[in-house]
Amino acid sequence: MTTLTADITIIGAGMAGASLVHLLAPARAAGMSVALIDRQPLQWQDDSDARPPSFDGRATALSFGTREILNQLGLWDAIASHACPIEHIQVSDEGRFGQAHLHATEQGTPALGYIIENHQLGQALLRDIVNADDLLQLTPLSVEQVKMNADGALLQLSDGRKLQTRLLIMADGGRSPLMTQLGIQSKRNDYGTHALVTQVECDQPHNNWAYERFSQDGPIAFLPLHKNQYAVVWTLDADVIDAMLALDEATLLAKLQQRIGHRVGRLTRIGSRVSYPLALVKASEQVRRSLVLLGNAAHSLHPVAGQGFNLTLRDAASLAEHLNKAALDGLNPGDLNVLERYLKQQVTDQRNTVTASDWLPRLFAQPNALVACARDGGLLALAAMPTARRLFARHAMGQGQRAARIG
Ligand SMILES: Cc1cc2nc3c(=O)[nH]c(=O)nc-3n(C[C@H](O)[C@H](O)[C@H](O)COP(=O)(O)OP(=O)(O)OC[C@H]3O[C@@H](n4cnc5c(N)ncnc54)[C@H](O)[C@@H]3O)c2cc1C
Repeated sequence: MTTLTADITIIGAGMAGASLVHLLAPARAAGMSVALIDRQPLQWQDDSDARPPSFDGRATALSFGTREILNQLGLWDAIASHACPIEHIQVSDEGRFGQAHLHATEQGTPALGYIIENHQLGQALLRDIVNADDLLQLTPLSVEQVKMNADGALLQLSDGRKLQTRLLIMADGGRSPLMTQLGIQSKRNDYGTHALVTQVECDQPHNNWAYERFSQDGPIAFLPLHKNQYAVVWTLDADVIDAMLALDEATLLAKLQQRIGHRVGRLTRIGSRVSYPLALVKASEQVRRSLVLLGNAAHSLHPVAGQGFNLTLRDAASLAEHLNKAALDGLNPGDLNVLERYLKQQVTDQRNTVTASDWLPRLFAQPNALVACARDGGLLALAAMPTARRLFARHAMGQGQRAARIG
């Protein structure tokens, strides 16, 4: 059988891999060949589970920084028609007096972020990819084996073909057996919790408010979706998640109502529910000669701060900036110097974002009275001090980091 070739090969057409394909448009235009492989099809019917798992029944909070990148890629208009702007955020601590409000107008932006259902995001990201004729699309097809060699990486595909590539980008998610084949370890800190994800309807419109409420049971986020609907992410201990998933609708609605209070009005309906085990997973290495790990393969975060994809998109934009330049300069995309420059540019952003996403659920899970007072203090400081609010909002909005050059 013939061996296929590509300058750059991306394994994974989830949020990470699909975004990177768009960001690599200048390298493709400069003649670099790009292959995209996923074991799932890139087009699917609404009722089918055969789709990249990034685009399942969840909803995602896109930061304002993410909007800016998607806008520069020409994708924002398609996304905006399905996305709900967050204009206000209330952060509160159940049973305590600390509470803070953030408002888009105070930050001088039209929105603090946007909520979109993942399947809509997937359709917007994949629509042009499916029709791109300068892209080698190998879907639905699995990569069964990866071997690094002097020319880059040699992949064994599930249909028996092989693919030789100068640069391999593994955007294959948080549980990659291919990483293990390459001897890359990942450090996993289980939080001992699961995210219960669902959608609810209320008897009043959300008016573009999002609510983040912390309790000893775990944080709960109500994120505005459609007129009077919220996407809900509730972090629960591993030993109660099965019982919660098994509750009938009325009982689960009552429990949610108890947690969120009446700030959202009366909850009237609940959609289907799914759960995800939560862990902070970090790869021990992200770049090697001819190899980059991207997205969940590089770092998978607690969803409470809604930063996983937002960070990944900033990583992808920065990686593409270096690869696009390499294409124009006639360099090998797998050159270790090129890849190390990318990582050096992103390391601080990654460290700060990972630390904040890890620290937030731990801080708010602490029953200790002193810590609870400190939380109140922090929330009151946010409530009282515009500067503190601005700094907090800039982090939540995915701003304050160096913006990658796109295009
Ligand atoms: C409950 C929850 C809520 C979240 N909310 C937010 C949020 O509000 N904001 C935010 O920014 N982030 C959020 N995230 C994080 C976000 O969902 C992830 O960052 C994102 O889905 C990661 O995408 P990925 O492309 O890296 O990995 P994946 O989605 O896992 O994609 C990997 C792809 O690789 C393919 N693949 C794997 N192995 C192979 C192989 N051997 N051969 C071929 N194909 C292969 C798979 O089919 C898959 O399509 C949330 C996460 C969770 C769990």
